[in-house]
Amino acid sequence: MNQYDVIIVGAGPAGSCAAFELAKCGIKTLLLDKKQMVGSPNHCGEGISSNCMQELNLSIDMPWIVNEVSGGRLIFSNDTSVTFKQRGFCINRPEFDRHLLKRATDASAEIRTEMKVTEIERETDGWTVKTKTERFRSSYLVGAGGPRCPVAVSLGQRHPLLPAYQYKFKMKAKQHPHVHSNWLDFYHSEAFPGGYAWVFPRGDEVAIGGGSIHHLKQKLDPFCRQMGFDPKDAIKKEGGPIPFLKKPCRIVFPRALLVGDAGGFTYPLTKGGVHGAVWSGKIAGQLISKAIHQSDDRLIRGFKRLVRQHPSRKRSHLMMPLTFFNFKNEAFHCIGNIMDGLEFHNFPIVRFFAEVSRAPSLSALRGIMYAAIIQQHYKKTKHFSW
Ligand SMILES: Cc1cc2nc3c(=O)[nH]c(=O)nc-3n(C[C@H](O)[C@H](O)[C@H](O)COP(=O)(O)OP(=O)(O)OC[C@H]3O[C@@H](n4cnc5c(N)ncnc54)[C@H](O)[C@@H]3O)c2cc1C
Repeated sequence: MNQYDVIIVGAGPAGSCAAFELAKCGIKTLLLDKKQMVGSPNHCGEGISSNCMQELNLSIDMPWIVNEVSGGRLIFSNDTSVTFKQRGFCINRPEFDRHLLKRATDASAEIRTEMKVTEIERETDGWTVKTKTERFRSSYLVGAGGPRCPVAVSLGQRHPLLPAYQYKFKMKAKQHPHVHSNWLDFYHSEAFPGGYAWVFPRGDEVAIGGGSIHHLKQKLDPFCRQMGFDPKDAIKKEGGPIPFLKKPCRIVFPRALLVGDAGGFTYPLTKGGVHGAVWSGKIAGQLISKAIHQSDDRLIRGFKRLVRQHPSRKRSHLMMPLTFFNFKNEAFHCIGNIMDGLEFHNFPIVRFFAEVSRAPSLSALRGIMYAAIIQQHYKKTKHFSW
């Protein structure tokens, strides 16, 4: 049987970043991925922030960067909006994933593709990982297999999942009233309960997508038409599930860690998970490397403490957005009326009292109150927001 120091299940951003940290310290590392070609097909809106690029220590002239943006805007159905300034990029995600994988393999990590992990078994001093055709053994195991990671599932961690889906369209003209090359636009309305819709500029293309707990496709098609694009003209259709935890899940096990989507590291408000995947994978790799070099497997217990600043690790950060995503339009409109055209961290006191004095319903007042609390949560954690 093939013996490794560490086996990583899943060669997405989380797995490749963990592998890079391990392999560069001389640790015998194996990445297993079920895909034939890592990164393809894409299952992502492909927006990442400059914070994520910095985490990866990458320059912004990468060939897989498609479009630069100044940040995001929350747009409500009464045509009001709130701005979140944060430089970022629309990327070619399959190429991004392969770039991170190459970094890991250049550092001597081994990759085996078309290896769907079907079973894992705990041994006294490590793990056996099984695919249909082969068995591998390792001292440590990293679950980086995304939202339905087989490692997470066999360790009892099944996350609630939000279905998300997007269409890509060719732009017929350079300018379009609903596509703003400088912004990622997030549309919040009761049509997308539990999620939102998005319009992301991609040079001569645009990605229009959404996430929702109910009837996603029935909602997304009319939304595309409203934005001026017919789903029949789509050049690509892509999608997948996004973990949305209601409480922090377990991520540390004897000689095993869960990272990225497998550990629920998505940002509760935006659902962006690439940054959380990269960050958690990197920390896990560094920690396991230390545990191996010091021959002390207890060291990996420190993972929980090291990642505690991520909002997915706190129940309050997880609960607030869940409420926000289920607001009725009335509440979204009140928030929009107060915040229209402003940067998210403002608190316009005059507009606030003007809106409240218009005596909106109790549920709208509740919405305004939650939005103010979420604003505070966001201020503290925005580093990870996308
Ligand atoms: C429609 C959509 C849009 C999104 N948009 C954004 C966005 O714009 N920005 C953002 O930051 N995040 C976005 N996300 C979330 C983001 O895609 C994830 O958070 C991110 O991919 C997590 O990275 P990961 O490495 O943890 O997992 P993944 O990228 O899912 O990688 C997991 C890897 O594990 C492999 N694998 C799975 N099961 C097995 C198995 N049994 N055996 C072997 N290998 C296996 C898979 O093939 C895959 O390569 C979006 C998600 C969706 C679904």
